[in-house]
Amino acid sequence: MPRAAIEITGLVQGVGFRPYVYALATALDLKGFVQNRGGHVLVDVEGDGAALRTFLDRLPASPPPHARIAAVRTRSLPPAHHRQFSIARGEAQAEAGLHVPPDLAVCECCAAELFDPADRRFRHPFISCTACGPRFTIIDRLPYERARTTMARFVMCRACRAEYEDPRNRRFHAQTIACHECGPVLTARHRDRVLAAGNGALALAADTIAAGGIVAIKGLGGYHLACDARHAGAVAALRRRKGRDDKPMAVMAPASLALPIAAQAGAEAVARLTSPEHPIVLVPAEAADSLGLASGVTAGSPSAGILLPYTPLHHLLAADLARPLVMTSGNYSDEPMAIDDEQASRQLAGVADLFVTHDRRIEVRCDDSVVRVHAAGSSIIRRSRGYAPEPVALAEPATAHVLAVGGDLKNTICLLAGAGAYLSAHIGSLDTAAAYAALQHAVVRMGQTFGVSPEIVAHDLHPGYLSTRLARELAASRHVAVQHHHAHVLSCVAEHRCTEPVIGVVFDGTGYGADGAIWGGEFLIVDGIRAHRVAHLAYVPMPGGDAAIREPWRMAVAHLAAAFGPGLGPAGELLAARIDSERFAVVRQMIERAVCTAPTSSVGRLFDAVASIAGLCDAVSYEGQAAMRLEAVAGEAADCRYAFAIDTAGAAWRIDAAPVIQAIAGDIAAARPAAAIAGAFHDAVAEMIASVAAAWARQSGIRRVALSGGVFQNARIAVAAAQRLGGEGLTVLQHRRVPCNDGGLSLGQALLAARLSRQGDLPRCA
Ligand code: ZN
Ligand code: ZN
Ligand code: FE
Repeated sequence: MPRAAIEITGLVQGVGFRPYVYALATALDLKGFVQNRGGHVLVDVEGDGAALRTFLDRLPASPPPHARIAAVRTRSLPPAHHRQFSIARGEAQAEAGLHVPPDLAVCECCAAELFDPADRRFRHPFISCTACGPRFTIIDRLPYERARTTMARFVMCRACRAEYEDPRNRRFHAQTIACHECGPVLTARHRDRVLAAGNGALALAADTIAAGGIVAIKGLGGYHLACDARHAGAVAALRRRKGRDDKPMAVMAPASLALPIAAQAGAEAVARLTSPEHPIVLVPAEAADSLGLASGVTAGSPSAGILLPYTPLHHLLAADLARPLVMTSGNYSDEPMAIDDEQASRQLAGVADLFVTHDRRIEVRCDDSVVRVHAAGSSIIRRSRGYAPEPVALAEPATAHVLAVGGDLKNTICLLAGAGAYLSAHIGSLDTAAAYAALQHAVVRMGQTFGVSPEIVAHDLHPGYLSTRLARELAASRHVAVQHHHAHVLSCVAEHRCTEPVIGVVFDGTGYGADGAIWGGEFLIVDGIRAHRVAHLAYVPMPGGDAAIREPWRMAVAHLAAAFGPGLGPAGELLAARIDSERFAVVRQMIERAVCTAPTSSVGRLFDAVASIAGLCDAVSYEGQAAMRLEAVAGEAADCRYAFAIDTAGAAWRIDAAPVIQAIAGDIAAARPAAAIAGAFHDAVAEMIASVAAAWARQSGIRRVALSGGVFQNARIAVAAAQRLGGEGLTVLQHRRVPCNDGGLSLGQALLAARLSRQGDLPRCA
């Protein structure tokens, strides 16, 4: 009897792959077994030669919807005379190319059963199957088997066991299988008191929300805080109690309400919203008008974040309440989202009126992912639930296990094992002790899940970053410091599997430069392990350090001083009229005397300055707020044109914003509308990117340009720059799967460490 061993790698665990193989093999009367190995699926199959060939043809042709086959390797084996075909128990095995399945939103079949009164899982808040349900957030170790998940403690009832073992059932070997009888139980609590369980808990949650209350809900990757998004009082109370700045809050709406809004924002918005990952999709705020949201939900932001229900519990609540719900992460201010029940009840005691929780432990924190849609497609702003920890396949496999710890803002970490770069879920800003602890935890878990202890640890060059401190404390044979913008370029390069030299354009808010200045408007030629800075925005002082991030008017003063001298010109007078005179005078003095200032080439801060000079925004409560407003008001700019001055004298070109600032000041004096000014400013930035990059392309012979850094979240800049660069005949690399902001930094750090290790060129740590 012909017999073959088939190894299938890719995303093949936790997606119903073994049942699929089983069905295929038994239909062809083949014998043998299928088994989850460390990170792949092994099929040992035996039978009639023609049937075996058909099997091999069909296997890669129609895998389950969420599976992604990376490679199929087949070799023949001596006959074993298998009697039947079976699904064998998973076997752990350390190896490269591991795939941890991401969490999957409720599938259509399960959603239908959820609302079918005749179904035994009618209204079961933990319904799932081989095609849907929690994965990443409940997995302790690989391979993916119920015993290695937080479902292990729930013993299957007889009915569930029968389905689990029935190859014709769609829950055949569904590791998360559960029902009312044997699954996790929902409870509604206030303080330590259990008020209701099961559907009673759901009813209480719905009543509380309908009455304007706030409910903490345990989800897949952490707790959410939910309230009626149309109830102004509830929304205001949530913002107040949560200590929330002006960041817009996400809104979960049933498909009947959410889909028309997405449709208005375009086909890409619909595709992203309904994708298996179910991210938060940012659409223009006007598009969400029909939802009738309380104004506090978007808080004046130009965009609104919407998402569809993705757990059975969400579906039930959405159906019972039939209205949009605020669904924001369950944390206080900037702390990481709570995942542990005790921690949640402590952290959220003053915020939530009711807790809806359950007895299935969350193993890994995982925030909702965020995707922004725009005219030219979409970009990922936060890569977390649904996407993490799907690896980015590298063109240059690492020869050592590398861990990169990212930066202190929008932190993620990245583990390299073989050709796979595994990025963690979003960890966030490391400005609280809890966030730092979350980073430590993520580092430990990452090693555990993949059974790897890192040999090389990569971190940011910033000596004061907490992530740097943590990296230095980790045991490893090597530590590698990577300059922030170098890491940004490599992050983009890694995604595109590009091994050639590139011209990197990195525009962002803040990154520690090789000269100790705050960089953020950089052109780098990146070749192999080297980065060479060829141009940058001319330095201006950042008055008061971080205070200049919170108060864009400070950067307006700095740029006006650079453009007009200490008098600040006519626009300075308009600005002064809006700001407290004493504080204004102090900032002017800081600049004149060069005290309490750090030099910066940040384009993010230039956007802040322009937003303030244009009278759009003098103070913000989160980074990027001013730039977002500037982008939102930008109209067509045919009637005014601005241009940067480029000084090509030195080794690195200096790009001077002064002529742009002077022209803007003139247009404000001429009472030109803000839309025209903002539009012209955007065009000038795009033009500057294209002309500087094209000039260096001619000089260096390099034809690829990588765009990275948070400024490229600005769709107008990203689209216009790419168009112009394309017009110059250059190939443009832009982020697609990993954020262009600091959320992608760890990937770039890891790539540099991998390149260094391959060259045997690793400096010993100091
Ligand atoms: Zn399902
Ligand atoms: Zn059951
Ligand atoms: Fe950055």
